[in-house]
Amino acid sequence: MRLVTLIPGDGIGPEVTSAARDIVLASGAPVQFEEVIAGERADREHGTPLPRAVFDSIDRTRIALKGPTQTPFGGDYRVHIERDDGGGKVSKRTHPSLTIALRKELGLYVNVRPIRKYPGVASRFEHVDLVIFRENSEDLYTGIERMVDEGTAEAIKIISARSTERVARYALDTMQRLGRKRITIVHKANVLKMTDGLFLKTAQETAKDRPGIVVDQRVVDSLCMELVMHPEEYDCLLLPNLYGDIVSDLAAGLVGGLGVAPGANIGPEYAMFEAAHGSAQDLAGKDTANPMALILSAVMMLRHIGESAAADRVEGALAQVLREGRSVTADLGGKAGTRAMTGAIIEKLKA
Ligand code: NAD
Repeated sequence: MRLVTLIPGDGIGPEVTSAARDIVLASGAPVQFEEVIAGERADREHGTPLPRAVFDSIDRTRIALKGPTQTPFGGDYRVHIERDDGGGKVSKRTHPSLTIALRKELGLYVNVRPIRKYPGVASRFEHVDLVIFRENSEDLYTGIERMVDEGTAEAIKIISARSTERVARYALDTMQRLGRKRITIVHKANVLKMTDGLFLKTAQETAKDRPGIVVDQRVVDSLCMELVMHPEEYDCLLLPNLYGDIVSDLAAGLVGGLGVAPGANIGPEYAMFEAAHGSAQDLAGKDTANPMALILSAVMMLRHIGESAAADRVEGALAQVLREGRSVTADLGGKAGTRAMTGAIIEKLKA
């Protein structure tokens, strides 16, 4: 039995993680979930949004399925963590958000976001099938910011050849495994000559001599325009952290919205699977959130742990429910709630 840490998260998180958990269990995959609390409830109950119990669990399981967590806009909010480094040593560090804390602490250096149009989901484009590889550890997400004076703030953007090379290598290896043919390196090296210049140069050098893979590059602003006009022409994108965050939400909008886009954070030792969307407080507790993005994140998790047959069964059952269109949530044009859509997928799995 494979143990997986389940983090329900905030807002719609508990509803969509319950859906994904129930579907994984119904798929027959030999998975058992260990639930730990992080986010607002943990903050209320334990005085910190990210208690040590979360790391203790992931240190045991190495795999997490995570719901979205809420981060306040602005202010001086920080997540302080304490982590058992072994041998009685406890480290204390600070991060700008709970999700960034987990990504950094667990060494999850790449965020993979597949963007695929499923039949039955209404969108402007029919043939979108992209994989976004986002560098997940540096750029402006280091949280190094300060007020220079009352009217001026600054933030530090860090790009290293080492992190760029490892994310590029991961993207290229994955592409070769999946038979993908074209990678577009996305940057703003015309203005950010040193940071994005280093990202572009390192990624291009890493991608040299990969048989069967065509490498090209786009400036991020023109890429956004091209994506909204003809997304079918793109295959895989490699981006620094901030552009990767923005472009993956844009890309979700090409195939049905935030409710449909899954994601995986991968590192050498751990992996954490979560939807691209956030905690969507406007929908929280209303049984209206679309569970699809978290279900597809769980599908990625099943493939990652070698349970491909169960992953195919879950994806197939979801695809059938989408095609039929009777039991889908409001963002997909239906009238079903989160629970009813989940129930319909489980029925297909059991049929
Ligand atoms: P959001 O993704 O939470 O929601 C934007 C809007 O998209 C929602 O209001 C909703 O109308 C729609 N939407 C999102 N998910 C949906 C779903 N599953 N089904 C149907 N509709 C859905 O973005 P936001 O409002 O910018 O962020 C809210 C909070 O989430 C912020 O605190 C942010 O920091 C956090 N966030 C967390 C993560 C994470 O934990 N990985 C990721 C993104 C945002």
